[in-house]
Amino acid sequence: VIYLDYNATAPTRPEALAAVVDAMHYVGNASSIHLPGQSAAQRVDSARRQVAELLNCSPGEIIFTSGATEANNLALRAAHSSGRRLVTSNVEHPAVLETARDLTADQPGSLILLEVDADGLVDLAALENALGHGDIGLVSLMAANNETGVLTDLAPVVTAAHAVGALVHTDATQMVGRLPIDLADLDVDLLSLSAHKFGGPQGIGALFVRRTASIPFRPQVTGGGQERGWRAGTLNVPGIAGVGAAAAAVHRSLAEETARIGRLRDLLEHAVSASIDGYRVNGHRVARLPGVSSITFPGAPADAVMAAMPHVAVSDGSACASGAPSPSHVLLAMGINRHDADCTLRFSLGYATTEDHIMQAADATAHAVKLVRASMDACT
Ligand code: PMP
Repeated sequence: VIYLDYNATAPTRPEALAAVVDAMHYVGNASSIHLPGQSAAQRVDSARRQVAELLNCSPGEIIFTSGATEANNLALRAAHSSGRRLVTSNVEHPAVLETARDLTADQPGSLILLEVDADGLVDLAALENALGHGDIGLVSLMAANNETGVLTDLAPVVTAAHAVGALVHTDATQMVGRLPIDLADLDVDLLSLSAHKFGGPQGIGALFVRRTASIPFRPQVTGGGQERGWRAGTLNVPGIAGVGAAAAAVHRSLAEETARIGRLRDLLEHAVSASIDGYRVNGHRVARLPGVSSITFPGAPADAVMAAMPHVAVSDGSACASGAPSPSHVLLAMGINRHDADCTLRFSLGYATTEDHIMQAADATAHAVKLVRASMDACT
C-alpha cells in the first residue's frame, strides 16, 4: 500500500513506538508519591519538556488531552465568555465549528464565521471588520487546513485581536510537526495539537495555554485534578511518552523533512499535470503546508477513483468523520461547486514518503481517473 493520507493520521514513528512500549512497563500512577509513581511522573515531565521544546514554550504551559478534538473543546469552552462574540472561520475542523456552534446556540448573532476566498485564505479585512463591530471575546482560526493545507497568517490575526482585548486560539493540529512553530514569537493564547498527525500515538494531544494570558479556568473533565486541574483523569503515561518522543524526533528533523516533503509534493503535482488532462490544484499555491495537495479531477468522482486504486491510500474531498459522507464544507466555502468537490482527492505526504511512492501514486491516479471518466462517459 502506498500511504498518502498523513493528514488523517501519520504512521507511528519508530521513536514513538519504542517510547510507548517502554512506558507500558512503568507500574506507577504518575500521581502517586511512591517511587514507581515518581518514575512515571518523571517520564511525563520529560515528555512535557519535549513537546514544549518543539513549540518553544514552557513545559508548564502544556496540558495533555486525549487529542485535538478535546484540546479544541477545552480551549473554546474556557476562553469563550458568554455574552461576548466568538469569531472563527467556515473552513475550520468540526471540532472547532461544532463546539463554536454549541457554545453560541442560545445567543443568535454571537457566532461570527469568517469566509475564505477562492484560495482558501481567511479574509483579514473581514476579521478587522468583525473586530471593529463589538464585543469579541475569542478568535479561533486554524493554523493549517486539514483538507487543503492552506495556512492562516496568524501574526496579524493576533495583533488585531489583542488590540480589541480578544483572546486567540489556533487549531494547529495539521501544522505541528509539519512546519516550525515558535510560541515565543507567535503570541497566540491557546494552541491545540494532536500526536497522531506527526507520528505519535492516536488518542493523545495537548493544549498550550499561555501562562501570561488570562484564560478563565474551566475544565471539561472534572475529577482528581490532574494537569493542574485542567484535565482530570489518570495520566496516559504511554501516550504521553509517545507524543514526547514523536515531538523530539520531529524537532530534530523538521527543516530537512519540510524541504524534502515539499519537493515530493511538487513532484506529485508535476507528474499529475503530465499525465492527466483536466485537473485543478485547490488552495493557495504558496501559503500551503509542504505535504498536502488537494486536486480536483472534474468528471471523476473521488469515491470511484479511490475504489479503482485501493492500494493507494488517499482521502476524498468529503468530510466523512462518521461514515456519512457529505461534500467538503471547506471546498464549498472556497466556491468550488458540489460536483467538483465530490471529484477531489487529498494527497497528504509525510516523513516516510519516498519518490517511488509518489511516482507510483501518480501513475495509479492517472490510470484510475481515465478509467472512471471512461465509465462515466459510457453511462451518459
Ligand atoms: N483539527 C484538525 C485540523 C484536524 O485535522 C483534526 C484531525 N482530523 C482534529 C482537529 C481532531 O484531532 P484528533 O483526532 O486528535 O481528535
